[in-house]
Amino acid sequence: MGKVVLGVTVGVAVAACAVAALVVGRRVRSRKKWKRVVGVLKELEESCETTVGRLRQVVDAMAVEMHAGLASEGGSKLKMLLTFVDNLPSGSEKGIFYALDLGGTNFRVLRVELGGQRSDLDPDVEQQPIPEQLMTGRSEDLFDFIASSLHRFVEKGNDSVQSSITKELGFTFSFPVKQTSVSSGVLIKWTKAFAIKDMVGKEVAGALQQALARKGLNMRVAVLVNDTVGTLALGHYHDADTVAAVIIGTGTNACYWERTDAIIKCQGLLTTSGRMVVNMEWGNFWSSHLPRTSYDIDLDAESPNPNDQGFEKMISGMYLGDIVRRVILRMSEESDIFGPLSSRLYVSFALRTPAMAAMHKDDSPELTEVARILQDVLDIPDVPLKARKLVVKICDVVTRRAARLAAAGIVGILKKIGRDGSGGITGGRSKSDIKMRRTAVAVEGSLYTQYTMFREYLHEALHEILGEDIVRHVVINVTEDGSGTGAALLAASHSSSGSVDNIQLV
Ligand code: ADP
Ligand code: MG
Repeated sequence: MGKVVLGVTVGVAVAACAVAALVVGRRVRSRKKWKRVVGVLKELEESCETTVGRLRQVVDAMAVEMHAGLASEGGSKLKMLLTFVDNLPSGSEKGIFYALDLGGTNFRVLRVELGGQRSDLDPDVEQQPIPEQLMTGRSEDLFDFIASSLHRFVEKGNDSVQSSITKELGFTFSFPVKQTSVSSGVLIKWTKAFAIKDMVGKEVAGALQQALARKGLNMRVAVLVNDTVGTLALGHYHDADTVAAVIIGTGTNACYWERTDAIIKCQGLLTTSGRMVVNMEWGNFWSSHLPRTSYDIDLDAESPNPNDQGFEKMISGMYLGDIVRRVILRMSEESDIFGPLSSRLYVSFALRTPAMAAMHKDDSPELTEVARILQDVLDIPDVPLKARKLVVKICDVVTRRAARLAAAGIVGILKKIGRDGSGGITGGRSKSDIKMRRTAVAVEGSLYTQYTMFREYLHEALHEILGEDIVRHVVINVTEDGSGTGAALLAASHSSSGSVDNIQLV
């Protein structure tokens, strides 16, 4: 009997040991997996590091590349395109002006009434999607569609379509254009979803002008600009200290107000103001000081435009979500903390930036929004809280780097034009004596306006790079719909002043 009891006791003890060993083994394995995942995060943090020292190197590199791009054609990855816009709206413009805004999936028609005296703007705007077949068809069909929309819009506004007075039209065309005057330019290439072969190398405003004539519209394309230039125009209309404009939306770009004598590649360029807006095409900026990760390298290699738009791929809304997806994928491959590997994680752009932003801002104790998005968007159910916290951290690292680099880009522009405070220091003066002019930068784009953390990180970095004494003089103004309204304002400022004819190349 005693033997039996002993046998049972020993058996129970052995079983208990086995269970304990199993549990301990699992814990050890799970700890190892967790360690690996934390290692992936640590590596990401290190390779995304943007210390203020590094940001200052980016600032310098941006200013140097701007110089190089202005010195010679092809001298830098920054194209530094001439826009022939040599005056900016002052607020005194009067009259009714129209604008067309073509650049993304939507197309807009606008009508603005200007009363002089920097009046409030309340444009009539009509927006419609561009039918997909027109994006890849014949140029004539696209421009006929645009002209018809404008025709209907003018009629609806009770303006006479065939009036004997020619109406001035601003045309925002956000594709790379080699500008030949403020109102003409040749399409270099299509981007985004557009691919109309017969248009490449052709004059853009001319094609629109012909379509307007076919529809019997008495209108003149007074300016052909891109969205950054429109934003600068609107920014300047509201705040005369505005010297640069930055777009941070699907893509990113910037333009600024430059002295013509600094545009060395175009010797003898004479304008009445002695200045011209330069479209930097800064999305293509590159510097060895940019903190690049293996995820950026993979994203670039798999993109339709490898080795292109390097700055844009680290900053803009089109890409941030996809960088986060790549990090989650790496973690899922290294461990099963996200459960079985979801095939959705392999789909490029499966995680869009607005969804990433929604996870980032989730401050609920259980991170329920993070759980929902992981489930609904990436097909990853039942993610433990610990792993959800990790996802929020990834979003934070990726966005913080993007916003801080954008800030460095802005300071790079300020440095180039001597508005970063460094040019104002004269021998022996203390920092508080620096004479710094008030400087405004117009910013537009949903990544900046809708993504609070992005905006806060950008402002924080501006403070860090410039220092409190200087940053007090730098104002960031958000413009709304500058790409369209700004073009109408430029149509006004370039029609009344007659400055179109004042640009000379001697
Ligand atoms: P576009 O750049 O196409 O002219 P927007 O300036 O509106 O248009 O920018 C759109 C981009 O901004 C989207 O592609 C997306 O990446 C980003 N975005 C939009 N809404 C949000 C949001 N709530 N949070 C973060 N990013 C957003
Ligand atoms: Mg836009």
